[in-house]
Amino acid sequence: MMRGGMNTYRIAVLAGDGIGPEVMEQALRVLDAVEKKFGFATERAACHVGGAGIDHCGKALPAETLAACEAADAILFGSVGGPKWDALPPDERPERGALLPLRKHFSLYANLRPGICMPELVGASPLKDSLIQSGFDILCVRELTGGMYFGEPKFYGERNGETVALDTLVYKKSEVERIARVAFQAARGRRGKLCSVDKANVLSSSVMWRDVMNAIAPEFPDVQLSHMYVDNAAMQLVRNPQQFDVMVTENTFGDILTDEMAMICGSLGMLPSASLCRGNGESFFGLYEPSGGSAPDIAGQGIANPIAQILSMGMMLRYTCRETAAADAVDAAVRRVIAAGYRTGDLATGAPGETRVGTSGMGDAIIAAL
Ligand code: NAD
Repeated sequence: MMRGGMNTYRIAVLAGDGIGPEVMEQALRVLDAVEKKFGFATERAACHVGGAGIDHCGKALPAETLAACEAADAILFGSVGGPKWDALPPDERPERGALLPLRKHFSLYANLRPGICMPELVGASPLKDSLIQSGFDILCVRELTGGMYFGEPKFYGERNGETVALDTLVYKKSEVERIARVAFQAARGRRGKLCSVDKANVLSSSVMWRDVMNAIAPEFPDVQLSHMYVDNAAMQLVRNPQQFDVMVTENTFGDILTDEMAMICGSLGMLPSASLCRGNGESFFGLYEPSGGSAPDIAGQGIANPIAQILSMGMMLRYTCRETAAADAVDAAVRRVIAAGYRTGDLATGAPGETRVGTSGMGDAIIAAL
């Protein structure tokens, strides 16, 4: 929307619990700085969610929060949960009561998880330095609303005198086509390589997945498509992660591979994520959040790493706002700050040249680097 001659985006800001509000504060400060530099604006509605939603409004996803999300172009989400709410029934707890309903309500079918290990942080990865000397930069595109987690029927009980459990892995062609296009588009904006991960040697749903990927490929002649079985992909991620640019895969495989990818990157405090559905024209409606949780063990101490939240805000600029130059600038500022040796506690190794900073110190350094 244009306002006062400027592109203006509406954002629902859901900081949540634990370190959520601390890291969100830094992401919004960085957003203030990029808005000034690149000449656009945001209108922000701050809302309670998770434990804060329960405490203030009696529900993890209060009606007024959902209404603000519906009125927004994007949701910038912190993290939810903590020991204070652990005794509640599972469906009322912050994570189940807020995030899953938001994903479902907005049909957020495309989950984008970058797995980036910067050259300066290879020491934080559990992989040998010799395997990942110059780091790696992978984007995993996971289908998020189909497959086995949602397929019907589901059953666990007695049949013919035997206990039986059943899940259904089902995909419609249209579901695979739309995630394929998200992945091809993402690869087009990066190094132009897309690896589709499936189990087509065993599963019918994977045979269709592969057929659809091959059928969409001619729409993107500038992207090189390859296929890999999921068991091999799990091995290749720890053997040679540098070979991957963009990976695309179905819900269950993606759940497992993205956790493996997060692990080999080193720190959860560095990893953003986006969950998207089609918005207006070329842009996406999305929920942008760090990959980690509310880290109650370090909350309130001013030591959490705000980079995952800041990079999540950067993904919002890229995929919802289409402010590509501003998104590139956020990513570059983070790289510069890491290269200059600034480290929060989760990244620090005590090596010479490191400057130890807290949450706001990291925000200051990134704003200065912009
Ligand atoms: P967690 O991700 O919160 O923490 C795991 C470890 O990583 C902790 O030692 C934590 O200090 C560290 N860590 C995470 N983010 C960090 C950051 N930005 N900077 C520095 N260190 C960071 O996972 P957990 O301990 O399993 O869960 C804690 C709470 O968060 C639970 O209530 C859980 O249900 C919830 N949770 C929420 C989300 C979400 O909101 N999307 C996701 C996962 C877990």
